[in-house]
Amino acid sequence: MNPNPYAWINKSLDTIRRADWYRSPQLIESCPGPVVKLAGHWLINFASNDYLGLAGDDRLIQAAIAATQEFGTGTTGSRLVGGHRDLHRQLEQAIANLKQTEDALVFSSGYLANLGAIAAIVGQRDLILSDKYNHSSLKNGATLSRAQTVEYDHCHVEDLKAKLEQHRGSYRKCVIVTDSVFSMDGDLCPLPQLLDLARQFNCMVLVDEAHATGVFGASGAGCVEHFGCTGETLIQVGTLSKALGSLGGYVAGSAALIDFLRNRAQTWIYTTGLTPADTAAALEAVKIVHQEPDRRDRLQQNIETLKYCALNKSQLPISNSDSPIFSFLLKDAATALVASSQLKEMGIFAPAIRPPTVSVSRIRISLMATHELAHLQQLVEALGQI
Ligand SMILES: *Cc1c(COP(=O)(O)O)cnc(C)c1O
Repeated sequence: MNPNPYAWINKSLDTIRRADWYRSPQLIESCPGPVVKLAGHWLINFASNDYLGLAGDDRLIQAAIAATQEFGTGTTGSRLVGGHRDLHRQLEQAIANLKQTEDALVFSSGYLANLGAIAAIVGQRDLILSDKYNHSSLKNGATLSRAQTVEYDHCHVEDLKAKLEQHRGSYRKCVIVTDSVFSMDGDLCPLPQLLDLARQFNCMVLVDEAHATGVFGASGAGCVEHFGCTGETLIQVGTLSKALGSLGGYVAGSAALIDFLRNRAQTWIYTTGLTPADTAAALEAVKIVHQEPDRRDRLQQNIETLKYCALNKSQLPISNSDSPIFSFLLKDAATALVASSQLKEMGIFAPAIRPPTVSVSRIRISLMATHELAHLQQLVEALGQI
């Protein structure tokens, strides 16, 4: 009998299961919000990237409905071939205005924005310096670009400097690539120091503001604003699917950069334009980010409250973070899975994050502007019992 060329799939699945790395999606049966219905039970939701609580906001829903009624469900083609709508341009201008950049370009996801931007700006004779903890999309963008990629220790400016001294001279262009808020630990990159090194070594900087847009900075522009770096020449990438409550991604930067990407970013040129519904919802969200700074204040209050209750009062082993992302570190994947299901029994939805996503298994907790004090108290109590 011939060997089955697909037999490896079940074998691989068995290996994944034995390591407690097996994953499957969990069904949410309600609108997004601080409380969600999961497999028939209402749980307090600490598993969402909807930091400002906009994904279930009626204004976004109405904007998406109106855009769909006017322009249909799909854009029917790539932006360059029949898929371009005025809504896209309005959103791009709104993002550029938020970021105080000359222009912006909207992609179908943040993942595609990173793949497309990185692969377009560097190539075989170039160098990428990449933070070890960067998001998967940044790492895969580097692979796709075929540039030489050197990882530096997480947020370690001295290590980055040593690596620039060692490698920079052998390559044509160079880009330093980093998350601004790291998606698993919630810590912030040392952006001003990275920009200093970039000037010193003639490098570009690409910063992924996925978890920072709408959350950091006085006007919600992100970590670039938070660090007082607005107006610096750098490449900002981000998503419409976290604090902005929709779906899609963007690159913001100089007019020349955006013009270049429209001509060279394969993940923008060869994919269908963002749907009218997603575009209109994101546009509405950017307006709300401008109009309702109190949402950011409430989120910041929740971050302070959790830190005070969990770290100072209860001395729980959670990461100390200035962002809405916290992690409760556990010794292995099996322990993290047990902890997550115990939390569920206590009314808390917070996922176990395991290798290969992170090296140390953990419960990941993300806060929203719309969490109430009682939600946070219940979380601290539940974590205390674990
Ligand atoms: C979520 C995320 C992305 C991907 O964004 P999507 O719009 O969900 O594809 C990219 N980078 C980082 C750091 C992220 O956390």
